[in-house]
Amino acid sequence: MRPDPQAPGPLLSVRGLSVDFAGVPAVSGLSFDVAPGEVLALVGESGAGKSVTARALLGMAPREATVSGSVLLRGARVTAADWGRRVALVPQDALSALSPVHPVGEQLALAVRSVRGLSRKDARSRALSALAEVGIPASGATAYPHEFSGGMRQRAVIAMAMINRPELVVADEPTTALDPETQDRILAVLGERCTATGASLVLVTHDLGAVRARADRMAVMYAGRLAEYGPVHRVLDRPLAPYTEGLLACLPTAATPRKSRLPVIPGRPPAPGSVPSGCAFTPRCRYATDRCRTERPAPRAVDGREVACHLDHLESL
Ligand code: SF4
Repeated sequence: MRPDPQAPGPLLSVRGLSVDFAGVPAVSGLSFDVAPGEVLALVGESGAGKSVTARALLGMAPREATVSGSVLLRGARVTAADWGRRVALVPQDALSALSPVHPVGEQLALAVRSVRGLSRKDARSRALSALAEVGIPASGATAYPHEFSGGMRQRAVIAMAMINRPELVVADEPTTALDPETQDRILAVLGERCTATGASLVLVTHDLGAVRARADRMAVMYAGRLAEYGPVHRVLDRPLAPYTEGLLACLPTAATPRKSRLPVIPGRPPAPGSVPSGCAFTPRCRYATDRCRTERPAPRAVDGREVACHLDHLESL
C-alpha cells in the first residue's frame, strides 16, 4: 500500500550512512532527512561523494561497495522492489537509462505495465500522457532514443522516472551534458513533475544557481562528509562552513565583470584513501588551527543549519 504523503515525519531518513570501497571510505557518517515534497540539493566539488551517496539512497550502490548506516523510506529500507515504483533515478547519461532498440513510448508503456498491470491500451495511453507532461508530443513516442536531441532524451528519462508516481526521485547531475538554456528548461520540467506528483527530489548538482532557484535545503559535501546542511537561503546567503564560503566565492555574481578571473579554493580535494585524519579541509582552509589537524569536526547546530567545523565564532566570520 502506498504510504500517506501527508503522514508526519520525513519521507527519507539517512543516519550514519557510510560507503567504503575495499576499505577506502567514499562517504562517511552522513545524516540528513528529506521531507515529503522537499527538494534537497547535494553539492560539492567532484569526488566529494555526491553520486555515491545518491545511489546509496536508492539502494543502488555498486556491488563492490560496503554500505553501513541506515537509509529509511517511511521507516523501511529501500530495496530493488522499490526501483521504478517508490523511488526513481534520473541519471546524467540518458542513453544509459533508455534501451536503444525500442521506441521511447514503448519503453514507457512497458515500465507502467510491469508495475501497474495495465492493459496494453491503457499503458500506451499513460505513456503518451507521461511524455506530454514533459513536453514531448505524441509523435515522439515512436522515436528511438538516438533520434532525440540531448534535451529531449533527458525529458524522456524524466517521463520514465515519473510514470509510476515515485515518492522519491534522485537526479544525479541530470543536465551536465546540456547547454545552459536547455539545462534550465530540463530542471524546470523535473521540478514541475515533482511538484505536480508530490514527489521529493534529491538533486545532485554543481550548479549553485539551480540550487538557489529550485531547492529547499542543501547538503554541502566535502571528502565524503557533510560540511554544511540547512535551508538553501541560509546557507547561500550566509555560509558558515569555511568550505561553503570558499565554494560560493568561486562563483560569478551579477556584479562580477565579464572575463574576470574568479577566485578558486587553493589546492585540491583529497583523494579517497588520502583524507587527512583531522578535518579533511585543513590543508585548504585559511582558518585552520592545530585542533583541525588532529580532530575531525562533527556537525553541530548553528544558526538554523548544521555545520561541521571547530571554529566557535562561525557566525562572525
Ligand atoms: S574545522 Fe578547521 S580546517 Fe575544518 S573547516 Fe573548520 S576551521 Fe577549517
